[in-house]
Amino acid sequence: MSDTCTAAAALSHDQLAPAIAAAGVTIAPAHHGAPSRSDERGTTTATADLLIVGRIATGDPAAPRAEAMAVRDGRILAVGSAADVDGLTGPATKILSPDGVVIPGLIEPHAHIWVSLLTLEWTDVSHAACPRFDDVVSVLTAAAQATPAGQYVLAKLFDPSLYPGEPALTRDILDRVALDRPIVVLNASMHFAYANSAALDAAGITDATPQPTGGTLEKRDGRLTGVVGESPAVTMLLANLPRPTAADVGRGIRQVLNEFAAAGVTSMREAMTGTLAGVSEIAMLHQLNGAERLPVRVSTAQFSSLSGCATPAEVAQAWKAAGVTPFSGDAMVRADAWKVVADGSNQGRSGYFLQPYLGETSGGHANWTPESLREVMRAGLDDGWQLMIHTNGDAAVEFALQAAEELLPRCGQNDLRHRFEHASVTTDDQLVRMSAAGVSPSFLMDHVYYWGAAFRDTILGPERAARLDRLASAYRAGLRPSLHSDYNVTTVRPLRSARTAVLRRLEADATVLAPEERVSPAQALSAITADAAWQIHADDRGTLSAGRRADFAVVDSDPWTSDPESWDRIAVHATYIDGVPAFTA
Ligand SMILES: [Zn+2]
Repeated sequence: MSDTCTAAAALSHDQLAPAIAAAGVTIAPAHHGAPSRSDERGTTTATADLLIVGRIATGDPAAPRAEAMAVRDGRILAVGSAADVDGLTGPATKILSPDGVVIPGLIEPHAHIWVSLLTLEWTDVSHAACPRFDDVVSVLTAAAQATPAGQYVLAKLFDPSLYPGEPALTRDILDRVALDRPIVVLNASMHFAYANSAALDAAGITDATPQPTGGTLEKRDGRLTGVVGESPAVTMLLANLPRPTAADVGRGIRQVLNEFAAAGVTSMREAMTGTLAGVSEIAMLHQLNGAERLPVRVSTAQFSSLSGCATPAEVAQAWKAAGVTPFSGDAMVRADAWKVVADGSNQGRSGYFLQPYLGETSGGHANWTPESLREVMRAGLDDGWQLMIHTNGDAAVEFALQAAEELLPRCGQNDLRHRFEHASVTTDDQLVRMSAAGVSPSFLMDHVYYWGAAFRDTILGPERAARLDRLASAYRAGLRPSLHSDYNVTTVRPLRSARTAVLRRLEADATVLAPEERVSPAQALSAITADAAWQIHADDRGTLSAGRRADFAVVDSDPWTSDPESWDRIAVHATYIDGVPAFTA
């Protein structure tokens, strides 16, 4: 079955696969089954090939400031005072005196490259671009008029939760925009898409089409509404879209990663690898990096659902057959995790809650049965993957936590650092149990900034909104949380996420949501550097310390000593990976 499965995934993306196969990319096996804990290397007395002098904020609480950092072969030999690097330089040592402050390269622990690059050129119908719902319809109408008949009109970032009454973009509304060309609009959460009749026809979806496992083709009185939910259904809708060529994909990946680098990021976790081109996405990343080093290190989370595979075991086998095993790859592109999506989007009212949404009788639902969730988690655990489980509502956290409490003890002692993604709304009890189970949360912190008012006023109510993204409670429970953007759900701005963690101020009305969940500036910065690095198994990054990689950003102000209010305005001048320039503003 596994051979069929791998072949099916490749064949369905025939414009990508040949380019990848022709490159003959092989993936390096993992060393000893785990990433090297290279920060444990001792310092040496070798001569530095690079000396950085100036203002250095190390991110290391034991020695937060430095004035010199000596680097050899991409590793930090010593960091500290001028005296600390004395004797480490020679005639060949290059001196770098950056105009700004040197900080550790920021870590983005959960973002989406593949689905984002697919939509790079799509029309923006975000709330920022379209402040009123009518604007969405006008922008789509203009886009349809500019598109030749028969060709797709594609738009992204639609977010009904930010408009009064949470209007859906139904097939009937979109049919009034155009009947003679397919229209597909992607929700900002990426958990929903909206289609007109022509797009449903183009995808071969009819009122009689069976519901896909884990996805929803919404119907009213037996008729498709054009609204589809969750990845399996969205994938069906997009199945006959013109596929990007390998060259388009390559350009798109660099463009996306350059956006990350421009925000000071030097390492990121791709949170759903395999959605666009199946298992060949890994080879493609290696091929691109081989041709020219990528501007950001990429850690991948292999998606547990692949086109053409019927069961989680088949998916696991497909990854293995492609040579993608835990911690395989190299320092630039490494496969690290197994991604499972337990529920939907809270702002899309498809997150799974213990209590109903405001104005509804339902609190959403899980994408799995208890048995099938255990099956998909086991498929990853059996192969030694770090689990990365999307859990948005408090019922989804409970559902996944019960499974984790049952399955993880059977795996014995390990250092896999399993994660719950978003863990947006949690109870005190759940945070304590996550800590006991060995599962840490990664928060989409700007849920608070962008959607906090909608959660409080129209979607969840004040009690549950106050339990949104509980960073302070997570620390109190002994957890080691990180902050992420979920790009392109929000833009990649780790320092803005950290600012939200400190202030918890809402974009809509500037009030503070759950002030008791505010954290210190040092905690917030750790959640986008050292702790985020820990969560992506990058112990050789996250702080500027001897033995670690010389991954750093040059910025115009030291976040550790500046007012958090100003963090999102800190300009990034450049980033370096292994002491070599990766991005220049
Ligand atoms: Zn995500």
